[in-house]
Amino acid sequence: MIVRVAHLYPDYLNIYADRGNIAVLTRRAALRGHELTVVPVGIGDPFAPSAYDLVYIGGGQDREQALIAPDLAARGERIHEAVEHGSALLAVCGGYQLLGRGYRGRDGSWMPGVGLFPLETIAGDTRMIGDVLLECELEPGLRRTVAGFENHAGRTVLDVDAEPLGRVVAGFGNDGASGFEGCRVARAIGTYLHGPLLPRNPWLADWLLTRALAHASGGDPVPLEPLDDVLELEAHAISARRARERGGRRP
Ligand code: GLN
Repeated sequence: MIVRVAHLYPDYLNIYADRGNIAVLTRRAALRGHELTVVPVGIGDPFAPSAYDLVYIGGGQDREQALIAPDLAARGERIHEAVEHGSALLAVCGGYQLLGRGYRGRDGSWMPGVGLFPLETIAGDTRMIGDVLLECELEPGLRRTVAGFENHAGRTVLDVDAEPLGRVVAGFGNDGASGFEGCRVARAIGTYLHGPLLPRNPWLADWLLTRALAHASGGDPVPLEPLDDVLELEAHAISARRARERGGRRP
């Protein structure tokens, strides 16, 4: 099958080689006989919500975010539509912040967001940097861990009824205080973790891929055949260990 991916603002939001997440999805799809076609969507480019099975947006600093925020906010309705109709979505760091209602940057300016994720972000005086370990339960009863790296000044506060991506085992997470990291709405995941995220969390890559494939086929998620993830799991273990050594949340 062909999985159609929209990569939003690749020229602006690609900090920490975030586009490596797409390389992982491409490879894991190919190993199961599927193909990803990736369309870069820049400022002013067309974006038809029904044209994509997966939407991807990476991270960036305040400066890059400010450049694309008005264009992204203007696409809000179409991004909502894509997710409502079953597209998968992955948003990392700066992209994650702008898929919420908005972000107040370090200089005090308000960048409007898409409002897909029920949250708001305000930049603080200090940066939250380091390895992170999360415990996630995206399907009831199925607990998995996510390991990654965070580097953000933004403090993200979820609405009370919002579903986080996971609970922080070690690291700061959304705001260094709530114990939550990321956000999930339907098949959309937002997270601060990059570096990139998917190479050391193969289960999450497959979670997104099964849902993108389901959208492509117009059906329910279809489990993918397992792969030999020895290296990926080793990377996960090293990253998780570094996060644990870093310790619990600090304000
Ligand atoms: N500018 C945002 C922050 O510092 C996002 C940074 C990033 O994408 N690494 O909070």
